[in-house]
Amino acid sequence: MTTPAIRIPFTGPLPPAIIVPPSASSVSGAIDAVCAFFAASPSLNLRGVDVGAHSQTVLLTGAGISVASGLSDYRGDQGTYRRNKSYRPIYFHEFVSRHESRKRYWARSFVGWPGLVKARPNSTHEAIRDLGKKGYISSVITQNVDSFHSFAHPELSTLELHGYLRSVVCTSCHNQFPRQGFQDSLERLNPAWAEFLARMVEQGALDTDNQEEQRRKGLKLNPDGDVDLAEAPYSTFRYPSCPTCLERPPRLKDGTQSRVEVESDGAWMDTSNAGILKPAVTMFGENIDPAVKIAAEEAIDDAGRLLVLGSSLATFSAWRLVERAHKRGMPIGIINVGGVRNEAVLFGQGSQGSDPEPTSHPTRSVHPADRGIPVRGKWERV
Ligand SMILES: [Zn+2]
Repeated sequence: MTTPAIRIPFTGPLPPAIIVPPSASSVSGAIDAVCAFFAASPSLNLRGVDVGAHSQTVLLTGAGISVASGLSDYRGDQGTYRRNKSYRPIYFHEFVSRHESRKRYWARSFVGWPGLVKARPNSTHEAIRDLGKKGYISSVITQNVDSFHSFAHPELSTLELHGYLRSVVCTSCHNQFPRQGFQDSLERLNPAWAEFLARMVEQGALDTDNQEEQRRKGLKLNPDGDVDLAEAPYSTFRYPSCPTCLERPPRLKDGTQSRVEVESDGAWMDTSNAGILKPAVTMFGENIDPAVKIAAEEAIDDAGRLLVLGSSLATFSAWRLVERAHKRGMPIGIINVGGVRNEAVLFGQGSQGSDPEPTSHPTRSVHPADRGIPVRGKWERV
């Protein structure tokens, strides 16, 4: 058994960002720092590999780079957990064990889906595409489940560390089905909800370019593709079973025959014990797909440096990849609106070798490009 890579968010406050080098606090200085990072010679400190063949950069991206596409992120610029107090992500064990939890999850996801379908990659994804074409980037590892990377740069390899929302997967037979087809089934099984959703769409309340309206109505699209709905009648929501398991109920782990029962119109019934569909994402408390975990580690090992974009490294799975890069002696760059987890380990006391001490600097927004995301950067000299 591998050690569980649990995606429980680190919800404590993070330290404020410190800009390293200090010259990166101006737009031109930030651009210079980014250029220097990408163009530097392979680090002589990189241990155990032929550095000459490892000059490219691997990217690790997080929710921060999808904000400009209309999705919210997990943290504000002060590094604090920004969710409203009533928000709590669903945990894997709740989803698989409780019919009521699944109703709630799919109701919120049903309302969030049209907004996610309409959302598009932004200038950050386009910049990554262009840097990939120029040969600076070896691959992208993303924590995001919105599929923007593969849409914006299909020719540049992307590993989706936490899966993707574009499919649903059966927890019994593991077959995957397109999320859009699942949405059509939800619409058919929930006419009153479908009417509510149609009204929202008509009013533009779910448009990602109408975020003010979204906020006013409390319909903010979360990075996991769902929407916060206060006081909604979740218990009325219905969802379909896995069609494969419905046709041929699988054997359970103990060897007994499972039951997959649906109402006359196809809604999954609580008397069933298999055929449950879930989004093809790694939920909080769920292990990462072992094959994806190994591929992500290989992507780190195949690169000469690591650049983190829009992530506070709050999830353990992301932090562990950065830690791996750090232990290999890879130069690490971070562009994020706030501080990140374990800054001191990466840039200050506790770091190894001849890493410079970070320089304190009053934090403020830096715009490296007209349409770029605001960044507060932290750079290791290379
Ligand atoms: Zn199935």
